[in-house]
Amino acid sequence: MPVYEYACHACGHTFERIVRTGDPETPPCESCGSTETRRILSAFARAVSGGLGSSGSSASCGPSKGFS
Ligand SMILES: [Zn+2]
Repeated sequence: MPVYEYACHACGHTFERIVRTGDPETPPCESCGSTETRRILSAFARAVSGGLGSSGSSASCGPSKGFS
């Protein structure tokens, strides 16, 4: 089951929701109950895209100079 993340326009609250077939596309806000919510990228999607550039092997790939 996909987990989607929603953001509320009314109060700015964000929440995750497991979406099943037949559920309404935009669930009401868990915080204020407003239906002015929209689906945003899930935390899983953000973790995947952000993990590529965070390995931190930047300045260590050059040839080692022989200071001896
Ligand atoms: Zn809200």
